[in-house]
Amino acid sequence: MAAFTAQALDITIEGQVQPATLAVAGEIDCVTAPQLQDAVMFALQRGAGSIHLDLAKVTFMDTAGVHVLVAAVRRSRLMGGHLGLTSSSRPVRRLLSLTGVSTSYLQRNCTCELVPASTS
Ligand SMILES: [Zn+2]
Repeated sequence: MAAFTAQALDITIEGQVQPATLAVAGEIDCVTAPQLQDAVMFALQRGAGSIHLDLAKVTFMDTAGVHVLVAAVRRSRLMGGHLGLTSSSRPVRRLLSLTGVSTSYLQRNCTCELVPASTS
């Protein structure tokens, strides 16, 4: 478990299972997006390329957040994994559908099996 705190953003990483789950709460904009990016890359490296994102408590997201998500999906695919969106708030869903990201990139409602993380 690791916590990254930015100005208006709380990110919690549940790393005891794989794929690791990132729960994000707050506002994702150009100020806080770099923190999200750092957390996502950190989790991807620890989680062998696959992570689940819980964006249910994100109250605001702009294109800076979309860029982070798209970059994360590309990175996870390069690593042979996937990026699953397990939950999202209305502002997030709205932006993702406006930008077409929800259908072309993110694995929505991902329900793949969670396994205990290896400790190696
Ligand atoms: Zn999954």
